[in-house]
Amino acid sequence: MNIILMGPPGAGKGTQAKKISEELGLAHVSTGDLFRNALRSMNEFGVKANAYMEKGELVPDSLTNEMLLDHLEKNKDAMAAGFILDGYPRNVDQAEHLANVILPKLGTKIDAVLNIAVPSQKLITRLSGRRTCRDCGTSFHVEFNPPKVEGVCDNCGGELYQRADENETAVAKRLDTYDQATRPLIEYYANKGELTEINGDQSMDKVFADIKESLKG
Ligand code: ADP
Ligand code: ADP
Ligand code: ZN
Repeated sequence: MNIILMGPPGAGKGTQAKKISEELGLAHVSTGDLFRNALRSMNEFGVKANAYMEKGELVPDSLTNEMLLDHLEKNKDAMAAGFILDGYPRNVDQAEHLANVILPKLGTKIDAVLNIAVPSQKLITRLSGRRTCRDCGTSFHVEFNPPKVEGVCDNCGGELYQRADENETAVAKRLDTYDQATRPLIEYYANKGELTEINGDQSMDKVFADIKESLKG
């Protein structure tokens, strides 16, 4: 099963993608994590992408599409049961590229498109309190989902940090970028009859339960 997980920055895509991937054995593919990992290893994709990410802008489609395809092709074995795309596609051109180039190349298709909806005013609180693991990308929240030991990842023991694009200016720009470029994808997939809305303004466990329920049908 292949799933697209959509939603604004801070909606809970990463949190839910990790839970789904554990439950269903799907590979979690986050383009944001791929860019951050690429930057850490000083890989060309990461260095080029960083200038855009710091400002809260989208990385150009050509670079993003190439990085994603490269990752999917190199990790085919880990995707035997399928994958969850978290943070891709982020505009209509990427959605078309996914449908017309990437999926045919991999010989597969998307089975579900889930949109996690959260009221805008709650996103800033979620983003400003988020702490992310440097090693595995798991996200925590200082108030809503604190780690057992402050500054340490429950999952892998890695160091928790605050992302470089989590300052006030970059967050405002990311929310704006979402409204301009990404929000239109809701209608794009709804028009195709492929969209499932998930209420993301509930506890993490309830959101997860709703996602599992929607995947049954
Ligand atoms: P995204 O990947 O969509 O940007 P995350 O999964 O990283 O979002 O979640 C953003 C922040 O909100 C994190 O700090 C996370 O711990 C927290 N969070 C996620 N889901 C919920 C929820 N249902 N209720 C409250 N906080 C949440
Ligand atoms: P969020 O928590 O806001 O959903 P992500 O970790 O998914 O954040 O993305 C962080 C940044 O990485 C984005 O602001 C953007 O600069 C870049 N990025 C991630 N995915 C894409 C994509 N599909 N297209 C273009 N840029 C992307
Ligand atoms: Zn970790």
